Amino acid sequence: MPGHTSLLFKANIKGGSYSARPIGQRAPRVHALADASAITSASTSAPSSNSSESSTSRASVCAGYNRRLVQRMREQKVDLSAASRRHSFALHAVAAPERTASAMKTVEVDLGDRSYPIYIGAGLLNQGELLRKHIPGKRVLIVTNETIAPLYLERVRAALLEGGKLQVDEVVLPDGEEYKSMEVLGKVWDKALESRMDRGVTFLALGGGVVGDMTGFAASCYQRGVHFVQVPTTVMAQVDSSVGGKTGVNHPLGKNMIGAFYQPRVVLVDTDTLATLPDRELASGISEVIKYGLIRDAPFFEWLEANMDRLLARDPEAIAYAVERSCINKAEVVAADERESSEGVRATLNLGHTFGHAIETGTGYGVWLHGEAVAAGTVMAADLSYRLGWIDQSLHDRIVALMQRARLPILPPPSMTTEQFRSLMAVDKKVLAGKLRLILLRGPLGNCVVTGDFDPAKLEETLVHFTTAAQAQTKH
Ligand code: NAD
Repeated sequence: MPGHTSLLFKANIKGGSYSARPIGQRAPRVHALADASAITSASTSAPSSNSSESSTSRASVCAGYNRRLVQRMREQKVDLSAASRRHSFALHAVAAPERTASAMKTVEVDLGDRSYPIYIGAGLLNQGELLRKHIPGKRVLIVTNETIAPLYLERVRAALLEGGKLQVDEVVLPDGEEYKSMEVLGKVWDKALESRMDRGVTFLALGGGVVGDMTGFAASCYQRGVHFVQVPTTVMAQVDSSVGGKTGVNHPLGKNMIGAFYQPRVVLVDTDTLATLPDRELASGISEVIKYGLIRDAPFFEWLEANMDRLLARDPEAIAYAVERSCINKAEVVAADERESSEGVRATLNLGHTFGHAIETGTGYGVWLHGEAVAAGTVMAADLSYRLGWIDQSLHDRIVALMQRARLPILPPPSMTTEQFRSLMAVDKKVLAGKLRLILLRGPLGNCVVTGDFDPAKLEETLVHFTTAAQAQTKH
């Protein structure tokens, strides 16, 4: 198309094959390391939807684990009722988190001398060596929050101290997107300076995307840059935010507006930590999983259509597969375009985010979860793609149906007006030379474009349609 400035990204997927990569890119290295004490074997083929695990035994494992967890929280004087009110705290153990590690997968993020591994497996927090071998100095500052600390801080501290060579300190931040700010970030630097940490220190993020983004940014600035390690504990962080080096904080005028690209030395994903994640947070992370299918991995989207119920039921095999395949997709995109150049592929990871960030900023940080806002934003992007004639109705309808099955919102909050969307979207980081660029779907499933070249009247139609529909829904 003459003058067409969009970039078209094709998924390079051969039907049913495991690895997805941009044309011409080599796949990241993925291999399984079987631990001597492996209790399950992992496979690189998509697991089937038939789980043989007995729900009775799973329930009793849950009950036992929940009892121990609540006991530990009581011992540490955690206000359980407050935690429960604040986070709809349901303790959903689907696997025994203290079991020995199962077969581990490694996805390599290929960035030359800044390359690093993502270790993925159940029970990896019990393998301290996996972390310790990536920590060059003698001191570690664990950054976590008040919800995660009583659950996993002692495990991580013990893993680090095991070799007897490290001194470990921690800083516990308040929990919530509303605390992803420069003011709260200062607490990390306060702790590091008060404890006289020098440039050899490693900052370790233990938590979800908020802790990970803040810790990475703190590490990038402390004494002009110290070592950084990620131990993500939400689906969102395990499939997306811990990989790729985007770090930062929010500004009252825009989401993630202050930050830096700063890569970790290792990402350690213990999928057992998801056992304690509230349902709403699980669904929020799944919205980013769906994204990979839509922008570049059609067979993965189809797998998600067939296996969404298993993911929501926290089937360990399905969760492990979804995390691993998402990391492979993310690693490939980051390796191809680390710093999100204007002509590069990384911007495609922001499908739905321009609408979603407007929702998060417009409603006030923390009211809608990031993944919830992205889900509604993705449906809005699909609607605009359909209005432009770039995708067919059946694909549009499949996207809406999958978001609904994942229990994610498909409309923005009723409080959002079209005017609010317009002004908040105008400060998006993808605005280039004053022109709004969006990630839109184009062609068959698995294809998208980054473009500022679309009919603005169609965008206006999308905004009016969604804000009207959201308001109408509250009236019924
Ligand atoms: P989050 O970090 O706020 O975590 C969600 C909630 O779950 C919090 O209350 C947290 O304390 C709790 N939690 C974390 N792990 C838990 C566990 N194992 N058990 C029980 N509770 C647990 O939110 P998130 O969804 O992980 O991340 C969202 C953030 O990530 C947003 O700020 C978003 O901008 C950012 N993000 C960044 C990138 C990136 O590339 N850097 C990508 C996607 C999202």
